[in-house]
Amino acid sequence: MKIIDKLKETKTSISFEFFPPKTKEGENSLFNTIKELQKLNPTFVSITYGAGGSTRNRTRNIVKRVFEETNLTVMAHLTCIGHTNSELKDILDDYQKIGIQNILALRGDIPVDKEEDILKGCKYASELVSFIRKNYKDWFSIGVAVYPEGHPESPNLERDIYYFRKKVEAGADFGITQMFFDNSYFYRYMELLEKEGVNIPIIPGIMPITNFKQIRKFALMCGATIPESLVKRLEKYEDNPNDLENVGIEFAIEQCRDLLKNGVKGLHFYTLNKSKATLRIYEAIKDLIS
Ligand code: FAD
Repeated sequence: MKIIDKLKETKTSISFEFFPPKTKEGENSLFNTIKELQKLNPTFVSITYGAGGSTRNRTRNIVKRVFEETNLTVMAHLTCIGHTNSELKDILDDYQKIGIQNILALRGDIPVDKEEDILKGCKYASELVSFIRKNYKDWFSIGVAVYPEGHPESPNLERDIYYFRKKVEAGADFGITQMFFDNSYFYRYMELLEKEGVNIPIIPGIMPITNFKQIRKFALMCGATIPESLVKRLEKYEDNPNDLENVGIEFAIEQCRDLLKNGVKGLHFYTLNKSKATLRIYEAIKDLIS
């Protein structure tokens, strides 16, 4: 089923992101996680894609397994960099043949000094969205990325929103945000979109901090600010992984409760293929989900 149709029927959507593991053990562990999280009746789950095609077969095989072996609605991430349009068509034809109807259309991160050889077909996510709409009409529901603090390459938020609007005009149905840790960025971005008359559903992406070093690295790469007050809370427990995880989960609960009270369309959890943190957060916020 198409995600946009499910979002129309759902007041508050819950969804989960997974990445395609490299090993059979990793895959078994992922399917155990999926079994646990399936109990929360998510609106959809999504499987990431290695920019440049590095996980092309693995992403496809996990998407196919989830589609065939569970009753979950699944979305395949797809990045356009490094692929010719004919390769993109092969990937999308295959998904259509399997019966997959949901794609998160992305550009991918351009590796430094590879700009020349990596842009072979669609150059931006908006071009990928147009390409999908042109070739597949309404077969796919198309999601796109949103950056509440602006994409790191954007000179300012106005420019960021200008290009986000291009993705919507090209046919994107909904957006999912990059992780953020200060809800005021999200609220400000939503206000700016409203002013511009851009009103597709936008789902905040939630990253529970269970490993501070790792998340600090991710946050730096994608330009997400970790507020100083949260850094101080987490730093106290840097040498105590259990306590650190508790603080990270408590923070995510506070963040999700505030978002839900402010009427967000849904919550998309970056699970890192684990269920524990997401299950605990869900348990603490489920009274606010309808
Ligand atoms: P775009 O929307 O194309 O934007 C990229 C930059 O170009 C922005 O700064 C934008 O303002 C600018 N821009 C857009 N159009 C134009 C134009 N016409 N002219 C000039 N500038 C323009 N990465 C992966 O590799 N695999 C994944 O599975 C993955 N999943 C993600 C899921 C989510 C929810 C999010 C938020 C990100 C994900 N990413 C993933 C990261 C993403 O690929 C990177 O952030 C990438 O740098 C930008 O991708 P995009 O689709 O946002 O690009």
